Amino acid sequence: MKQSRLFMPTLREVPADAEAVSHQLLVRGGFMRQNAAGIYSYLPLGHRVLQKIQTIIREEMNQAGAQELLMPAIQPAELWEETGRWGIYGPELMRLTDRHDRRFALGATHEELITSIVRDELNSYKKLPVNLYQIQTKYRDERRPRFGLLRGREFLMKDSYSFHATQDDLDEEYKNMYRAYSNIFDRIGLKYRPVVADSGAIGGKDTHEFQALAEIGEDTIVYTDTSNYAANIEMAETLDRYDMQAAEILALDKVDTKDNKTIEDVARFLNIDTKTTIKSVLFNVDGETVMAIVRGDHEANDVKVKNALGGLDIQMEDEATIIDLFGCEPGTLGPIQAPVKVVADYAVKYLVDAVCGANEANTHYKHVNAERDLSHLTYHDLRFVVEGDMAPDESGPVRFARGIEVGQVFKLGTRYSEAMGATFLNEEGRAEPLIMGCYGIGVSRTLSAVIEQHHDDRGIVWPKSVAPFDVHLIAINTKDEAQLELANRLYAELSSTYDVLYDDRKERAGVKFADADLIGLPIRINVGKKANEGIVEVKVRATGEVLETTVDELPRVIT
Ligand code: ATP
Ligand code: MG
Ligand code: MG
Ligand code: MG
Repeated sequence: MKQSRLFMPTLREVPADAEAVSHQLLVRGGFMRQNAAGIYSYLPLGHRVLQKIQTIIREEMNQAGAQELLMPAIQPAELWEETGRWGIYGPELMRLTDRHDRRFALGATHEELITSIVRDELNSYKKLPVNLYQIQTKYRDERRPRFGLLRGREFLMKDSYSFHATQDDLDEEYKNMYRAYSNIFDRIGLKYRPVVADSGAIGGKDTHEFQALAEIGEDTIVYTDTSNYAANIEMAETLDRYDMQAAEILALDKVDTKDNKTIEDVARFLNIDTKTTIKSVLFNVDGETVMAIVRGDHEANDVKVKNALGGLDIQMEDEATIIDLFGCEPGTLGPIQAPVKVVADYAVKYLVDAVCGANEANTHYKHVNAERDLSHLTYHDLRFVVEGDMAPDESGPVRFARGIEVGQVFKLGTRYSEAMGATFLNEEGRAEPLIMGCYGIGVSRTLSAVIEQHHDDRGIVWPKSVAPFDVHLIAINTKDEAQLELANRLYAELSSTYDVLYDDRKERAGVKFADADLIGLPIRINVGKKANEGIVEVKVRATGEVLETTVDELPRVIT
């Protein structure tokens, strides 16, 4: 591609509204333009990167046995009503009405739509399993679209859905997808961690997010260096839902809720002193001893817990802050203590609230319970989630990092198939709901995440696998005939092997170099003064390494 022909409107100035580095560089480098809040056009350079990312995703998904299809973005409201999500999804779901007053949703996700497609077709165990995926534009009216492509309202997602006859089969596919996702993000060149995550209101239990490590990330992840275990700190919230159930069991069992109990009553029962600092509480549930640590009086604690989980902003690996926040003794931070304690703070809060009357928390409690049937959960679930797949005797310090959720794998179970009557006949000829998994990757978000991790103060530093072009060939002075001739020749020759961007513009060298640094192609070839000797300069964007080479040696040098 000749740069003189390429639509690549670069900017020298940092766009005023762009907070995130990736957002700034995408606009400055002419990769994209904003059309409305959270809505963007991908210009040719940005589009090329998206294509590269999509190719990697397609290759790995196909390799893993999934099949590509394409579903509509416009979905009938009735499907969303079948699962109740027309109501539950809230204002994030964009809705529209056609000329006949029929209601539609703009697809925020496609569980309902895919289930409606397969429910009449995947009607026998013999046709299972099946994994179907698409790469498609999604719509979510995010409350706060921001950071460019990181949180858009129209964005590109790869979403896949798998259907199974048995839970074991789903478990296998989950592992299969987990591996495929690891391959994808490895190939894209992201530093990431799969973390245990919150299964939210969708139901189901097992879920991992793939978190690209970056300061701008909106998620906080908790991990240790000495174990494989890592979790989204949101897990604490999930656990609080588990806790609520446990708390209720405890409360109903031991405290007479018919009487108007006061905080003091509950506190007395729990052996908590509400007037002075509460240090620790031991719960005994189902024979298990679970420790909770609570600080301050209950009102202050309320605020603190809310702040802690809502606006938690812990400095990375700042042990002093963690110690302060969680009230642990220095040196006693084990791998699970901090998450347990956040959870337990909540447990106490809900225990107290649940027994003492209807306040906001209690409403929340009922709300969550109405949405999710928690009756099958026991305290073992809590312990399982907290401890995850950690080695128990390893006890490195807890570390915190910021992450960008670039993907998520999820065991849905029968939440959708049951609601939508998607059944198959099992080997005994009995009808059963399909067992489902779903797996998403934020394609456009991933593009930004790559830049968050790969840039310097001059611009983007693309990993080879997703760079918009492989090689940036620069004719430094197009008025010099020897230079122009050699550059033209190299352009023709290299183009058979590489995607070459050829800067043939009549611009000053300084302008060309600044643009080249900004858009960050992995290899730059400068054709300059030594062109008449057949010598060019090769510059590696990532390392800054520069070397001269003869044209004959060039193919070997740049491989
Ligand atoms: P988040 O927690 O960031 O809001 P999510 O959990 O709501 O994301 P999923 O429903 O899991 O998102 O969707 C699958 C993937 O789509 C996410 O892992 C993420 O990479 C991407 N994604 C979700 N929302 C957006 C968005 N507003 N803009 C860009 N990508 C998004
Ligand atoms: Mg979301
Ligand atoms: Mg999320
Ligand atoms: Mg998610």
